Amino acid sequence: MVIVLRSDAGSGDIDGVVRAVESAGGAPFVSRGVARTIIGVIGDEPVLAQLEALTLPGVAEVIRVTSPYKLVSREHHSDRTVVQVGPAGMQVSIGPGTLTLIAGPCAVETPEQTLAAAQMARAAGARLLRGGAYKPRTSPYAFQGLGERGLHILSDVRAEVGLPVVTEVVDAHDVDVVAEHADMLQIGTRNMQNFGLLQAVGSVGKPVLLKRGLTATYEEWLMAAEYIAQRGNLDIVLCERGIRTFETATRNTLDVSAVPMLQARSHLPVMIDPSHAAGRRELVVPLARAAIAAGADGLLVDVHPHPETALVDGPQALRAEELDELAVAVRDFAPLLGRTS
Ligand code: PEP
Ligand code: MN
Repeated sequence: MVIVLRSDAGSGDIDGVVRAVESAGGAPFVSRGVARTIIGVIGDEPVLAQLEALTLPGVAEVIRVTSPYKLVSREHHSDRTVVQVGPAGMQVSIGPGTLTLIAGPCAVETPEQTLAAAQMARAAGARLLRGGAYKPRTSPYAFQGLGERGLHILSDVRAEVGLPVVTEVVDAHDVDVVAEHADMLQIGTRNMQNFGLLQAVGSVGKPVLLKRGLTATYEEWLMAAEYIAQRGNLDIVLCERGIRTFETATRNTLDVSAVPMLQARSHLPVMIDPSHAAGRRELVVPLARAAIAAGADGLLVDVHPHPETALVDGPQALRAEELDELAVAVRDFAPLLGRTS
């Protein structure tokens, strides 16, 4: 930590900061410049975290030099993590070296619709099936998902098409039942800072797909991942799905920078969901190409056999023709970036 003093700070202020650092258990190193003094602090982070340095007289700024997320940081873990999803014999790797396509319906509606979407996904080269049984909806009057019945449909479809399943959990009470059926648990954007839910999925022993909160900074997102890791689960995949900006023409704004930024800060894989970012099917393939070019470790897309009748997110669901285009992009671009799909 570096404490920068105000240019008008006097020696009494400097002594006050030095004493405060020492009494918090840290070692202060004072460096007096022409214009201002800075104090470097070495010490145990949790102890120093108690030190409210910004409130001390004469202090202008406090700069952290180490990240507050330890377990998911790349600082002490330079190799990037490969997360394995699915039971033995059906395992899928997500991480460096691969480009993993996850596809399926936004919501599980019927067994027939889920099976048809899963077959479309598999034909396009998807390695995992997505589908929501519990849907977090903005309106309480909107379709909320089939719940446990949806989980059974997903299990049946997995058996039929042979793709491991990722599905969202929205309530800590449902974590056990979702984990019984799913191979990977999704935490949606609206729950990225539901800390009880993060701790619950951290304890259940299945990989987690952690979407970025609508307005979350990279640090907040990584701190959310740290909640999961702190419960002993490091099988976490980060998923950028668009953030809130002033632009209204797209559903959200895809932040492609998240891929290299997060991969530099964390050892966890980073995927892109172009469907929820765009909200419009004609943008999904172009954004997916951008994601691959930026170095994403995978893609998560919505597909539907009949988007015009979809109960959730029909306008962004890919039909067979766009899915074919996506499959071509994945097949042709992945090797250019040294990845297999
Ligand atoms: C979803 O993937 O179905 C979903 C609800 O996504 P998000 O949480 O990103 O809105
Ligand atoms: Mn959706």
